[in-house]
Amino acid sequence: MKKMLKTKSMIFAIAGSLIVGSFAGNTSLQSAEAKDPQSTSNEKVENVIFMIPDGYSSAYATNYRLYKGKESVMDPHLVGMHRTYSANSEVTDSAAAGTAMATGTKTNNGVISMDPDGNKLETILQAAEKSGKSSGLVATSTITHATPAVFASHVETRANEEDIAPQLLQNDVDVILGGGKKYFSDDLLKKALKDGYEIVSDAQSLKNIDKTDKLIGLFAEDSLSPELDREITDEPSLQEMTSAAIDVLSNDKDGFFLMVEGSQIDWAGHANDAAWAMKDAEAFEEAVKAALDFAKKDKKTLVVIAGDHDTGGMSVGGYGGSGANLEILKYVTATGDYMASLINEEQSNIQEVILHYTGISLSEAEINQIKQASNPAFQINSIISEHALVGWTHTGHTGTDIPVYAYGPQAHKFSGLIENTDFAHLMAEAMKIPFK
Ligand SMILES: [Zn+2]
Repeated sequence: MKKMLKTKSMIFAIAGSLIVGSFAGNTSLQSAEAKDPQSTSNEKVENVIFMIPDGYSSAYATNYRLYKGKESVMDPHLVGMHRTYSANSEVTDSAAAGTAMATGTKTNNGVISMDPDGNKLETILQAAEKSGKSSGLVATSTITHATPAVFASHVETRANEEDIAPQLLQNDVDVILGGGKKYFSDDLLKKALKDGYEIVSDAQSLKNIDKTDKLIGLFAEDSLSPELDREITDEPSLQEMTSAAIDVLSNDKDGFFLMVEGSQIDWAGHANDAAWAMKDAEAFEEAVKAALDFAKKDKKTLVVIAGDHDTGGMSVGGYGGSGANLEILKYVTATGDYMASLINEEQSNIQEVILHYTGISLSEAEINQIKQASNPAFQINSIISEHALVGWTHTGHTGTDIPVYAYGPQAHKFSGLIENTDFAHLMAEAMKIPFK
């Protein structure tokens, strides 16, 4: 077995006071942090950190607050919502959503930073580079996946990840951290070394980097692990990658643009895996905290946080019941995929596996549902979600509006109901750099 199940008594000992304070019918989770006066200033912005929790809608924000037992680090910085529809659909994908957020132009689903007629669109990262700033991309997916790709490449379909990798280097992205080693050929990495990049491939070497202006960290052939399963790998956390990126980029006196994606909140949504969604939201929140800590000291850094769309049509509560039961997800220590991979051929260990990794004792009916399922991982996730009272309406994206959070000079300009195309323009305005 991969890891020991934390005992309930231990978890209650840590979280007990929070649970009493916030779940016992107390609906007003008080703001832990007052609004910072920085966020209403109109000072010029030198650095922008754009953080995208992929798939994170208001239902995720509410469920995450209940899971955590208190306000999230993002909550005090909520400034509004944004509209996510793409050029050809009420329901966007990450390519079209990211293109809108990075370029200020809506396009069709699947397209990476080209308009519906196939013209290349300038991105906010390219505009920052042109103005002498450094730039970085950080993700827990392959770094050539749709959301990071839209900031520094132009391709007709998001699946062309081999074509995206060299474009990230051609566009002079100074810090590239994530998965997707398989899309970077030996020749490409040799050239990167010659161009002055330091290249690392595990958490330890990321910690030990020398002072450098350019950094590539590719920590897996494909995507990185879900945060729930990361401890059995040598991959860095999203927070460790974010902090490393800020360390390197802040050497540039002209400032920087950095995009950080919590890529797998979306994948958890597609899988209807509520525990994976909450755990990756937590990993994303730690990265947000690192970015805010830097911004608070720096005073010239704008941090903007917004998901690109909802995934899964998540609800708070459901199944004809009332209330929510998010705290049980704290006992879940593996993804549904991982648990399903441990079920033996005779299917005789289902109860044992689920109990070990979730603390849930399954009924006979639930065991049979998993036995008969064409997709046992999905069935496991459905059962856990029902126990936690986290509802799902879909395995794809939905078109609901998405919360926007911002901190730092000019943060207030992102307030109200905005379009996803407003992000890039407002960021360019804040940095006072030419853009379109
Ligand atoms: Zn998705």
